[in-house]
Amino acid sequence: MTDIIQLLPDHVANQIAAGEVVQRPASVVKELLENAIDAGATSIKLIVKDAGKTLVQVVDNGKGMSATDARLSFERHATSKIRTANDLFQLNTKGFRGEALASIAAIAHVELKTKQESDDVGSAIVIEGSTIVSQDVVVTPKGTSVAVKNLFFNIPARRNFLKSNTVELRHVIDELHRVALAHPNIGFVMYNNGSESFNLPVSNYRQRIVNIFGNKTNEKLVPVEEDTEILKISGFVVKPEYARKTRGEQFFFVNDRFVKSAYLNHAIVSAFDGLLKSGTHPSYFLNLTVDPQSIDINIHPTKTEIKFDDEHTLYALLRSAVKHSLGQFNIAPILDFERDSSLDTPYNYGKNAKVPTIEVDRSFNPFKEEAQSQARAAAFKRESTAGWENLYVGLESKGTKTHQNLSQVEFESEESTGTLFGDNKTVDKINTTYQLHNKYIVSAIKSGMLVIDQYRAHQRILYEDFLKNMTLKEAASQHLLFPLQLHFSTQDVDIIKQLKTDLEHTGFIFSNVSEELVEIIGVPVSVPESEVSIILEQLVCDVENQIPEAHFSATDLLAKSMAKSLAIKTGQSLQKDEQEHLLNRLFACKEPNVSPSNRKTFITMSVDELDKKFF
Ligand code: ADP
Ligand code: MG
Repeated sequence: MTDIIQLLPDHVANQIAAGEVVQRPASVVKELLENAIDAGATSIKLIVKDAGKTLVQVVDNGKGMSATDARLSFERHATSKIRTANDLFQLNTKGFRGEALASIAAIAHVELKTKQESDDVGSAIVIEGSTIVSQDVVVTPKGTSVAVKNLFFNIPARRNFLKSNTVELRHVIDELHRVALAHPNIGFVMYNNGSESFNLPVSNYRQRIVNIFGNKTNEKLVPVEEDTEILKISGFVVKPEYARKTRGEQFFFVNDRFVKSAYLNHAIVSAFDGLLKSGTHPSYFLNLTVDPQSIDINIHPTKTEIKFDDEHTLYALLRSAVKHSLGQFNIAPILDFERDSSLDTPYNYGKNAKVPTIEVDRSFNPFKEEAQSQARAAAFKRESTAGWENLYVGLESKGTKTHQNLSQVEFESEESTGTLFGDNKTVDKINTTYQLHNKYIVSAIKSGMLVIDQYRAHQRILYEDFLKNMTLKEAASQHLLFPLQLHFSTQDVDIIKQLKTDLEHTGFIFSNVSEELVEIIGVPVSVPESEVSIILEQLVCDVENQIPEAHFSATDLLAKSMAKSLAIKTGQSLQKDEQEHLLNRLFACKEPNVSPSNRKTFITMSVDELDKKFF
């Protein structure tokens, strides 16, 4: 039989590679800008004609190339940026494949001029469809200029696929924005058909964003900063009220490289949960810095998709950092429970802890009048400053009581706290609570009607309480007359061992945790002895089934699990005072509108909406 396999000639191989790297003029812009940055340029000029179809030229003041390198740079797999396969995981440069110039030269007319600082003269190379037309010595300033003309001149089909100049120019500008946002310390100028269309001087990040997207952007930005061992986050999110109908301004940069990540985008969207009008998307400009070893950039030809070693943790950190910022800057009553307890949570009060401040979201307000919203804010404040500490003391002093009924435990054992409305005139209004189907608590409010889901609301209340206790590490215990012995499998005991310290912070006292036995001599005051085994079983089950992407801290999980076990359930009938108490406690929470598992705790219906129903 005859052999049929042949090696493709270089110019064909280059054209094939070009198909991956160069889809449109904007791809050329990206590659050339990135080369300029890799060359250490501080000032970069981009010149385009006919949206880049006729000309894309990038002029930089970077380190330039020697005559030999200038020639070599057009060879496929010719790169100065990596030497071994291992270097792929230590990347500090944008490029590394050595493919871009070879690919571009295969499908366009390219003119390169370059000079190194130490040389008197530079080199000029003209190359057309992979063929060198000329190489000369030229007088040219330090740096490199690459002009790419007549893109796809030898592949008419590809040229015909290009969109209108408006569309292609949009892509070009998008690429420029991405690169310019990642490098505010580099100046960029862009000329389109002979006139200057962008001039971005060297600046800081905020200024760069404003220079690109306009002065109005400045007031919309909320800074996000987080510095952990595995991830540094810096940048801005745009306040939720400016969220857009289209996914326009969403920028992630990982080690200064623009990347697309639906997964990380989801982290941001979920941090905005409850703050966005439906159908709108948050805008953000976020820079993530990670160890280059922990990412793989070599999974996509255009390098806009990358693989992270530990995506789940990045997700959790990102979400929590954004939530934290939105909360801190008074955007929403957000308390960041999801962050790892070893990070600085708002509950992570040290000895010199400041009295916590409370964030009140004024835009969310079922009670329309400002006066009432202020009263509510004041009520929150009271509860959160003196309130919750007293509440705790209250628990302790009354902890000797033996409570039979769970709801009584919750409702009797606490100090009466600030009411929702703060002043007596309006207090009457909450007295009109009504329990519906042993499931919902309905109350008249100024604007109409409030309906609370009792199970979810109580979970939220207990969850915040447990978290406070755990981070304050001062929970009160109720000692048991006889040690409680519980039997578990070895694996389950392992889980309990891991959570032992956190459990102790909630008030559990263990006298023995051995292979298959857990012996308890003290339980949190809010936990009846009869519930202990259920709580621990539920906890073990929750840890085992922990949703991987959530990556919650053990503390958080424990608080959630205990809240779930102990909350008054649907079906339980509540006395009037219990209903009111639940309502008050819920609105004293930091994040009253959702349950610990992020479901709505209440809804409101305005009189207007009711009126409409009677039409
Ligand atoms: P890569 O960037 O992946 O290395 P390219 O084909 O884009 O591959 O470039 C090949 C080589 O040419 C680079 O490694 C670099 O050494 C050199 N080079 C390209 N553009 C420039 C530039 N603007 N300034 C200096 N050197 C450059
Ligand atoms: Mg390159």
